[in-house]
Amino acid sequence: MADYLTKTQLLHWRQCPRRLWLEVRGRVPAQAGAALPLLHGRQVGEAARGLFPGGRLVDTAAPEAALARTRAALAAGEPLYEAAFLHEGLLARADLLLPQAEGWRLVEVKAATGLKPEHAEECAIQAWVLAGCGIALKSAELAHVDGKYVYPGGADYTGLLQYRDLRADAARLAPLVPQWLAGARATLTADEPDITVGPQCGKPSPCPYRAHCAPPRPDYPLSILPHAEKLAKQLAAQGIADLRDVPEAALTKPMHRRIWQATREGRAVLDGDAGERLRQLAWPRHYLDFEAVQFAVPRWAGTRPYQFVPFQWSCHREAADGDLEHLEFLDLGGGDPRRAFAEALLAAAGEAGPVLVYYKPFEQGRIHELAEDFPDLGAGLRALGQRLVDLLPIAQRHYYHPAMKGSWSLKAVLPTIAPDLAYARLEQVRDGGDAQLAYLECVTPDTPPERRATLARALLTYCGRDTLALVRLARHFQTGATPEASGMAP
Ligand code: SF4
Repeated sequence: MADYLTKTQLLHWRQCPRRLWLEVRGRVPAQAGAALPLLHGRQVGEAARGLFPGGRLVDTAAPEAALARTRAALAAGEPLYEAAFLHEGLLARADLLLPQAEGWRLVEVKAATGLKPEHAEECAIQAWVLAGCGIALKSAELAHVDGKYVYPGGADYTGLLQYRDLRADAARLAPLVPQWLAGARATLTADEPDITVGPQCGKPSPCPYRAHCAPPRPDYPLSILPHAEKLAKQLAAQGIADLRDVPEAALTKPMHRRIWQATREGRAVLDGDAGERLRQLAWPRHYLDFEAVQFAVPRWAGTRPYQFVPFQWSCHREAADGDLEHLEFLDLGGGDPRRAFAEALLAAAGEAGPVLVYYKPFEQGRIHELAEDFPDLGAGLRALGQRLVDLLPIAQRHYYHPAMKGSWSLKAVLPTIAPDLAYARLEQVRDGGDAQLAYLECVTPDTPPERRATLARALLTYCGRDTLALVRLARHFQTGATPEASGMAP
């Protein structure tokens, strides 16, 4: 089957004609999409089908076969999942198509937690294609996840989805679909559109062709300066593109001046206040990091969609004489990890001494949620939350290295201070997204034991690396040793 466009391709054309052109005619590699959103989409799709049982899944991606199976099921009047329809060369799949007393109920299912502007266009395209195929729609709805839903357990997902009636939007926009289709076809018969990067590149979905479309960037673009969009525009209007060419007088904020100075001089800038603040902290000191997993469809009773459920922590305990002890927790059993996580954490953290983290809201948020979930542990957890000390704002206020290129993420800062700990050297798990995927693979029943053991090791190494990184960061801020001494070139 050839010469058709899919609903998704038409939506990409609506986002940016160049995106469709590159997708269909370009010979340009597309950046790989993030794995977690795809996984969440699959979870929600399966849950939605469970809420409307008894239907037939059109489980083939091949258009001809999907169309044939759809026709057969339609004739039988059965509920359909992923039904395929083709009208005037536009192919659309309907997530749920449910028979009503007269006609059909169309439900598009999204893993999002709210209605988005692009959903109306999507429903309109579906409705236009289905109407063209002679399907009498009684309703056109968008079902999205209710972020406030709390899973009661027992596989009862009633209430997981909220249904929004988009009949009026679909009716309003459907007459435009033939024009969009003609526009998309015209795009594909012409040369590559001359469209430059802009706000459309990120909305409604991240475009995978940025590397192809973006103009060459200077080594140190003005976008490195945080919260300086207006200033960057003014400087760009003067023909200045590289931070090193900015006149000093144009910068009034201390942070901007520190970044500018470090970048011009090609060396790190660390002021003494960071060390002063840290030297005042008591002993022992704990350095703490959590890993957590999110499910679009909650897996454990008492949890919400997309709630961060912590399953792993690492803690380095540092004594006044510099002695380090490493403690860790990892639950890959597949059951609700929260209670065991909280109990082991309280035992490891003791009752006194500062607990250093990087970006406090994350660990603090999880600790407060655990205190709510387990009232008998609440007092201890809340006390632990009070002991958190955030290294991130200390780094932001007092430290910069040109190689950080405007980022204070631990992954950007660490190579400038402790290149021997760089995350790029890790295998399998290098960031929080990898950790979630590793967790999910481990708790999947058919994952072979050897693979599970490899991933468990990778998770322990990664989380342990995070807290060792915090130790090295704090020590560096206190001693003021220059990053150049550690071999990091700007
Ligand atoms: S990167 Fe931006 S300009 Fe390029 S194709 Fe994608 S949306 Fe269009």
